[in-house]
Amino acid sequence: MNICLIGYGVSSLILGNVLTNKNIRVSIIKENKVIKKNTNRTVGIAKNNIDFLKKQKIDLNNYVWPINKIKIFNESVENKEILNFGQKNNNLFSIIKNSQLINILEKKIKKNKLIKIIKKKEINFYNSIIENNHEFDLVINFNEYNKISKEKFYRRHYKDYKSLAYTTLIKHKECDNKCAYQIFSKYGPVAFLPLSKFETSVVFSILKDNNNFFDEKIIKLIKKYNKNYFVKSFSKIEKFELKGSLLKNYYYKNILCFGDNIHKIHPLAGQGLNMTIRDIKIISDLIDNQINLGLPLDKSILREFEKETKHLNYLYSQSINLINGFFNFDNKFKNNYSKKIFNFLENNSFFKKYSTMFADKGIF
Ligand SMILES: Cc1cc2nc3c(=O)[nH]c(=O)nc-3n(C[C@H](O)[C@H](O)[C@H](O)COP(=O)(O)OP(=O)(O)OC[C@H]3O[C@@H](n4cnc5c(N)ncnc54)[C@H](O)[C@@H]3O)c2cc1C
Repeated sequence: MNICLIGYGVSSLILGNVLTNKNIRVSIIKENKVIKKNTNRTVGIAKNNIDFLKKQKIDLNNYVWPINKIKIFNESVENKEILNFGQKNNNLFSIIKNSQLINILEKKIKKNKLIKIIKKKEINFYNSIIENNHEFDLVINFNEYNKISKEKFYRRHYKDYKSLAYTTLIKHKECDNKCAYQIFSKYGPVAFLPLSKFETSVVFSILKDNNNFFDEKIIKLIKKYNKNYFVKSFSKIEKFELKGSLLKNYYYKNILCFGDNIHKIHPLAGQGLNMTIRDIKIISDLIDNQINLGLPLDKSILREFEKETKHLNYLYSQSINLINGFFNFDNKFKNNYSKKIFNFLENNSFFKKYSTMFADKGIF
């Protein structure tokens, strides 16, 4: 059994490790895009996914910073806390730097005898994949921009959030730092995501109609919304264009698209990679079933994967868009709507239980 993964991002490296645990040979195609190693971006991984990765021998527990509370504020309700989730001894999310996660996964991949890393960029390679003239049982494509995606997977629902995400790391005085904060400000959501007792990552998604802000202005705004840290320094500000997309058909012949290539969403709920890890669980189970039945790895797995995941991914990403749209709308009306709704929700244990499950386990 031989599977080809096209792409060298986090999702591809995780799936590569998961597949070799089943004794499947994996070829990972590293295309010409260089991964920025020094980026300050972080990623929050839900507890359920951390547990799954551990079972797959990707134990992140010594590298991540667990958080047990999330507090949500709204700027125009006098910076009042409108919602909170979690309990003191219960992990909700764990935060890790993207670059560190890639390093951990890369190290494992390089030691793994079942994995071959191939540098490829020639058109002939993509043509052979499209024409099904290759040695692989299945091909999994993570890259939205290569020839395969452009030729065979161009039917997508696009969503332009008309926003930029600004990210930075702040170094601050020591504090317990087990609670993440998200403030729905008049510019867009700003999240403070703890990385250690001394370091916190900030993701500020700002609507572009509020101009293209300079770094000094972003730092000024972060200082304004920061109510918890005695900040010593800020790292360089990085900027990401926020665009969403949902692929209409996940597979063609024996090629399956995966990761952000099938669902790219707004980072406000920190769910992009979490959705992909849930997809990895599903495809991993489908492959196990096929192997247990003594059947070959073929297109039927891809069909089943699409059937099991597409509607859930659609619902999940639409829910995130709805939250984003609601706050954009609410801000225009001086937060009149959110004041009333969140007063009700904060005291509703049913809502809290299910929204925590929604973030941890997705929709089931
Ligand atoms: C600011 C921000 C914060 C986030 N926070 C969280 C969080 O807390 N929790 C969470 O679960 N998710 C979060 N996400 C989403 C998460 O980072 C992504 O879902 C995840 O990194 C996607 O990984 P991937 O391997 O599928 O895709 P990619 O990393 O995009 O890689 C896929 C492949 O495409 C190639 N590629 C990518 N872009 C290009 C390009 N422009 N040109 C050519 N090739 C390209 C890559 O080299 C790679 O081979 C966040 C996203 C952003 C922008």
